[in-house]
Amino acid sequence: MNLPLWRAEAWRWAAAMGAAAALAGAAEPAPKSGAPAKAPAAKTAKAASAPSVSPIVPNVAGVDFIDTSFENASPLWYEFATDGTVLINLLYDHERASPNRAAGHVHFAIQGKPGTKVTLELRNLDNVWNGVRGNVARELKAVSLSEDGRTWRAIETDNSAGDRVRFAVELTGPRLYVARVEPYRISDLERLLAKIRANPLVGIEPIGKTVQGRELEIVRVGREDAPRRVFLRARAHPWEPGGNWVVEGLVARLLQGDAEAQRLLARTCYYILPMANKDGVALGRTRFNLLGKDLNREWNKPIDGALAPENLALEKWLERMIAAGKKPDFAMELHNDGGGRLHISRPPVPGLPLYLERMALFEKLLRQHTWFTEGATNGAFRNSGTLGDGWLERYGVDAVVHEFNCHWIAGLQERPLGRHWQDYGAKLATVFEEYFAALGK
Ligand SMILES: [Zn+2]
Repeated sequence: MNLPLWRAEAWRWAAAMGAAAALAGAAEPAPKSGAPAKAPAAKTAKAASAPSVSPIVPNVAGVDFIDTSFENASPLWYEFATDGTVLINLLYDHERASPNRAAGHVHFAIQGKPGTKVTLELRNLDNVWNGVRGNVARELKAVSLSEDGRTWRAIETDNSAGDRVRFAVELTGPRLYVARVEPYRISDLERLLAKIRANPLVGIEPIGKTVQGRELEIVRVGREDAPRRVFLRARAHPWEPGGNWVVEGLVARLLQGDAEAQRLLARTCYYILPMANKDGVALGRTRFNLLGKDLNREWNKPIDGALAPENLALEKWLERMIAAGKKPDFAMELHNDGGGRLHISRPPVPGLPLYLERMALFEKLLRQHTWFTEGATNGAFRNSGTLGDGWLERYGVDAVVHEFNCHWIAGLQERPLGRHWQDYGAKLATVFEEYFAALGK
């Protein structure tokens, strides 16, 4: 809250010292720890004497504000370096009872004077994943930009420093949105649901609520008495909107109303949990739910509903489906990462070799009908407790985690945007149709 005063004071100090000399003398902006508290407004009179910390420089000319007031914006703090770079410090979210932490969701808007050119640097990317340090900068090879928050383009970043990411932008209007990948917000999902709700092929079933009370829904597309069932879940990790775009494309294809759509729904009904971590999406978090649980973990045992109500709601839904003789024949968990592979896990279940054969068939069909070229995890891979691993182990459901590379689509030689993933989702319906046909189902 005292940041503006603090900055104003630093500005007065810089002016008193002679701005150029002051700026030239400061190699780095002030360290964040404690600095604002050391510069209360009442001490302004002492500001002319050299402060014990380096000065924070005044606003970069033409940049007024980094806006994070809107839906899905990332929590962050920022300051200006002496060379005019805007330093964006992302905030981590933390896993409960573990050292795991994650920052990497990027979504904010620069407000300023049209025509301003500015370099941005993303910081605080030292994530901890499964107890191992790993900087997410190596996977942050692109960001997306938009003037209106609707039409996006992707640009390359410079991540050569290893622990930070830099890129230059120009404000062509008073506001420029910056995101890691093209965002998909709760309002986007609500628009989709409103569009399809009245369709006789669609059923939308509330299954429970998030930690903060947001309603979770399973969207059914197809006839309930269809002999085969596919389940998809997107957005367990809020920074990863790719799965939502895939779902958009799939649903649009299935509801197109043409002869091909009828064929695609003749034997298969789709059940989709489109946004598992709605709280995280609303608040611009990166990985965990609001109580520090990873919603793509601990599926290898009964869900702790006090900490992960989002997963408990889904577990209950799955068990209702199984009790009604409607066990999903295939479950796919949709994610973004820097690799884009199919994550085939290998829990110790009796039918594992046959499961692996079916997944090999599925991968072959993905390569045949979509732009997928990234491949699958190898023979030693197991990621215990993911939905893919846990549903196979506990319920005998053929389940898999599908990652989508967030910065590059090798099969298209393009940086990904929502429309590329929508196109993938549309083709996915054909993949499932051919998959069940090949298995004689
Ligand atoms: Zn993920």
